[in-house]
Order: sequence, then C-alpha cells, then structure tokens
Amino acid sequence: MKSALQIAADVRSGASSANDELERTFSVIAERNEELNVFLHVDFEGARRVARDVDERVARGEDVGPLAGVPIAIKDNMCQVGIPTTCSSKILEGWRPPYDATVIQRIVAAGAVPVGKTNLDEFAMGSSTENSAFGPTRNPLDPSRVPGGSSGGSAAAVAADMTSISLGSDTGGSIRQPAALCGLVGVKPTYGLVSRYGLVAFASSLDQIGPFARTVTDSALLLEVLAGHDPKDSTSLPEPSPSLLAHLNDGVAGQKIGLVRELVEGADDSVVTAVRSAADALREAGAEIVELSLPELALTLSAYYLIAPAEASSNLARFDGVRYGLRVNAVDVTTMMEATRTAGFGAEVKRRIMLGTYALSAGYYDAYYGQALKVRTLTINAFARAYEQVNLLLGATTPGVAFKFGAKTEDPMAMYLNDVFTIPTNLAGDPALSVPFGTGEEGLPIGVQLLGPGRSEAQLFAAARVLEIADGRS
Ligand code: GLN
Repeated sequence: MKSALQIAADVRSGASSANDELERTFSVIAERNEELNVFLHVDFEGARRVARDVDERVARGEDVGPLAGVPIAIKDNMCQVGIPTTCSSKILEGWRPPYDATVIQRIVAAGAVPVGKTNLDEFAMGSSTENSAFGPTRNPLDPSRVPGGSSGGSAAAVAADMTSISLGSDTGGSIRQPAALCGLVGVKPTYGLVSRYGLVAFASSLDQIGPFARTVTDSALLLEVLAGHDPKDSTSLPEPSPSLLAHLNDGVAGQKIGLVRELVEGADDSVVTAVRSAADALREAGAEIVELSLPELALTLSAYYLIAPAEASSNLARFDGVRYGLRVNAVDVTTMMEATRTAGFGAEVKRRIMLGTYALSAGYYDAYYGQALKVRTLTINAFARAYEQVNLLLGATTPGVAFKFGAKTEDPMAMYLNDVFTIPTNLAGDPALSVPFGTGEEGLPIGVQLLGPGRSEAQLFAAARVLEIADGRS
C-alpha cells in the first residue's frame, strides 16, 4: 500500500489520479469489509464527487493541497453533512448531521477524499469494538482477535490497506490502543490542538481527535492538516499549529527521556522487552535514558472511570427521543424518553451513565467525583514535575498484544485495565503517541508509547521516527 505522502505526490504530478486511488480503496473494501466489519457506511457517490473535483483542479494546474486525492476513513462519531452518523448506537438510527465537523472541512480543503464511516465501541466507550451495536470489527492481522477500541474500525481500515490514513478519537486511549494492536502509528494530540466541533462528545474534558497511519511521516502529515485554531470549539488553542514535517528527522541526540516504571509495570514480558529495546534504540541514537517513577499514575485508572462516565452521563442526556434519531412512542413524554433510552443504548453505555450519575449525585459527589478531580490535579503536577527533569517519557501502550474476541467482555474491570497506560496523559491533557516496535505472541505487533508536555508533538514525532527506523520499518 502506498503511503498518503506518495499518493498525494502521485496525484499532484499526474502519475495517478484521485479517482484511481479511490477505486483501489473501494475494491479492497469490497474484498474485505464483509469479513472485517470496518465500515458502517461507504459514501460511494460523495467520495467519487470529491475525487472528481480534485482531479479537475489538478488538471487546471491548481495546488490541491498536502493530501491531494488521498482516501481517508472517518470514525463514525464525527459529523459529515448528510451522511449517517451513528456512534455505533441504535439511538442515533436514521440521524444525518446538518453540518460538517471542522476536521472534515480541513481534510477536504487539503485535498483528501473521505470514503466512509468506521465502526467503534458505542459512543467510543470500550477497548475492543465489541460494544458496537452493529457487531465487532475484526483485526485484519488475525481475524480471531479484536482490533482494539474504541476506534477499532479506523485502525482496521489502515491495517487492512483499505486506506493509508484515518481519523480516530482518543478519550482514554482509543487511538493509541488500537494503533498498538493493529501495528500502526496512532497519535493523541495536545488537548485543544485539534478542533472537536462536530465530534459527538463522550467526555469533553478528555476527548481529542487524532490520526492513524502506517508511518510516522503520514501521521505528521495528517496532524499538520488537522491542527489549528477553531473559534467554533471554545477549548481550541489560539496559538498557530506546530510545524511537524519539518522536524521529523531531528532525532533525539541530547534529549533526556524518562522510562516510567508505572507505564510498564504489569505488562506482558514481550511488551516489557519491547519497551526496553526501544529505550536502547533511543540511547543509541544519542538520547540519555533515565528510569523514573510517577506513583500518582497508579491512581489514574480509577479517577478516569469516574470523570469520563460523569461527563458522559451529562453529554448523553441529549439523546432523549426528541432531538436525534430513535424515538419509541409512548403515552407521555417521560415514558417515551425512558423507552427510547432503554431501547437505544447498549449495556456499556447504560453502565457508564449510571456510574456517572451516581458519582455526581449530591450525597456522593465529594467522595467520588471530587476525589477523582483531586487525582487529576496530582497527575497534572506529576507530569509537570517529570518534564522539569526530562524532555519526553517512554512506556508501553497496552499490557499485551491484541486479545481474542470475548476474552474480556464478561468482566468490565478486565476491559478497563487495558487502558491503564494510555489514560494518564488524557487526564493531563498532554500529547502521546503509539509507534509499533517489535512483536509478541504469534508475531502480533506491540506498540511503544512516547509522551511529552503540551505542544511537544514535533519532538514526539522525531523520537517515533528514530524507533520506526530502528525497528526496520523504513
Ligand atoms: N477504553 C476507554 C473507555 O472505554 C477509552 C475510550 C476512548 O478513548 N474513547 O473509556
């Protein structure tokens, strides 16, 4: 499969066309989507129209942009005008957004061709896509295993070579974890770097949109397009977006990188080995590696599973049978809302709404939500202290490789524990990425996580590039 960088270069030079690239994507989708359940909706007509427009502009000699003619898959929790947006929930059945998310506008303005909407855990709550109301997505590397989640469909689209790049959202690891399980690069940008206007909210103080790609370069290329101030998102950072591609080959010479004990502890042996050899590779490239401990991180999983459900219980109140999608008719409004929410939400979403409502209720607020916010402050301070000593941090992305279907569905705690290494940085609002490094059980990919202070994306990509080269990937 060609990289996005290559596709865009070919389309701009006339060596290929947006139409050819799109038809190639459609033919892989036709071959593999039934088995893998990656796309919930493919926008054949709309994508062909966008591709035709790109080709016409190239023919007229216009500069089409850095993603000229690149097919891209979109997680189905982002709004695209007129295209079904389900969040993999029955409650949004039949709803078609009347507007485009800012990220859609930005990628189309850069020449990309959105091809369709990918499967996810319902409302992005989960780590395997098994919580989708439309069936799970299979991991293209081993269809008996999960692709991770919640952005499992977007990861699988790239891993199955349907597209070279895709969009995911990461609230507690939903880009980095599936990237690790599917052998891809996945990035959770600094909170506020990418606009969430048009992203269906799960936990607003944590949600970020970010890229999936096979290569570090393609991830940087896509993030450069996505990043930038948006007056329509009040949390959007006002500063100009960082230049990423220009720094890709900056290396890590002279950088101090902290290997965090709490971000490897408890992981499978193969994962610990991968993280240690990543540290060696960075050292060989000129970085100084120091081992450090951030004990506060041990508290973050519990804090996340109070804060995220609390915010979700409020955000999901809008799905009431009146404004969007499904309505189950009943004798009066209260009964209608109850019947609609009972029929429309799946078990995990209901569990989160109940957990969140409980944590926020008058008698328990201080004991649960209030305590969780204190842990969040401790986490922010712990990272800030670490970044006074080191430039970047290193750890594992997940405790193990892609697991089998059903392995964790009976025990929500086992599923939640999959996020133990990815959640801390969401609480802090800092950026992190997962880059493939080494393999584990049955040759399945392992992801190594790099974390940095706010707006350190350029340094993260440069370090990831060192690991990509050391792992023999480019
Ligand atoms: N797996 C985590 C959860 O279920 C994270 C999900 C996400 O990042 N959207 O909440």
